[in-house]
Amino acid sequence: MPVCSIVPPYLLRRLARLQDPPMLDAAGAARHALDHLERIHAQRRGLRGSVTPPLTRTTLTRTISDAEHGETLPGTTVRAEGQDPVADRAVDEAYDGLGHTADFYAQAYGRRSLDGDDLPLDATVHFGQQYDNAFWNGERMVFGDGDGDVFVSFTSALTVIAHELTHGVTQYSANLVYQGQSGALNESVSDVFGVLAEQWVRGQDAASADWLVGAGIFGPSIHGTALRSLAAPGTAFDDPALGKDPQPAHMDGYVETTEDSGGVHLNSGIPNHAFYLVATALGGNAWERAGRIWYDTLTSDRLPASADFARFAQETLDVAAERYGADGAEVRAVTDAWAGVGVTPAKTARAAEGTALE
Ligand SMILES: [Zn+2]
Repeated sequence: MPVCSIVPPYLLRRLARLQDPPMLDAAGAARHALDHLERIHAQRRGLRGSVTPPLTRTTLTRTISDAEHGETLPGTTVRAEGQDPVADRAVDEAYDGLGHTADFYAQAYGRRSLDGDDLPLDATVHFGQQYDNAFWNGERMVFGDGDGDVFVSFTSALTVIAHELTHGVTQYSANLVYQGQSGALNESVSDVFGVLAEQWVRGQDAASADWLVGAGIFGPSIHGTALRSLAAPGTAFDDPALGKDPQPAHMDGYVETTEDSGGVHLNSGIPNHAFYLVATALGGNAWERAGRIWYDTLTSDRLPASADFARFAQETLDVAAERYGADGAEVRAVTDAWAGVGVTPAKTARAAEGTALE
């Protein structure tokens, strides 16, 4: 299980190289976040193969802890399930964000927490000094406070929280290998359900939603609206410090790279945009038909962990046909969407053996 962080390593690497005096703090914070990411990757590699036995639980159980700017997890418990808000925005935003995400999965898809079995939701806030990231470590959500210049908050965006928690849903369902195309699909479904959770909470339909992941996490000096855009991948930011959003929206722009686990945060733009095309073609609430097709594809055991884009596309078509009929608007929308991003659906299965997991 890799550590899935909201800020991709290539962005942190770029920030870490900044030399301008106003950005020196941010550069230091980015270097630290990178070092930390590498350390926890190494720790997780050591833990691989350990399995936590499933427990029987019945309700939503949230626990928010405060790392008090240290890097020891979990930190001190500051708000448990059912307790009143505390005078700390990060704590309350994390508490609410976990709750909204769990409610979204329960009410839209009948899923009981991330594992389908009421897994308690734990989070730690105020992790590290000016820590420039938020991540799901396989067991809990961890939020830094950001450096204050480039990144100002990670708890304020429900899309960030729901993105990270969806890595938990994926971990307990298709378990898509976090490398290459299956890794980009892992990232993409986190973006898809990240934006759907927010649309569901806001009551926004496909036409009125902004389709942005991480709106509000950048400081006011950054030229950018969010980390990623499903409506227009490659346009979320264009900034002297961050560079330009590098996501492709079509297979023509597919990025071959060994960085970022084979471009998992880059090529996710392609299936992201396919989902957007399905949702906007169908209209109405995106979490209903479009989201249901993606959810069933992810969770119904039909998708191999090593699935590539073509295989994922084929499964979404099969799901759409089974649920809504082969001649329905849904199959047409899904067919057109994959064609629109240059993916040809096929029952391919690339062997996972021999590929790196992180
Ligand atoms: Zn992610």
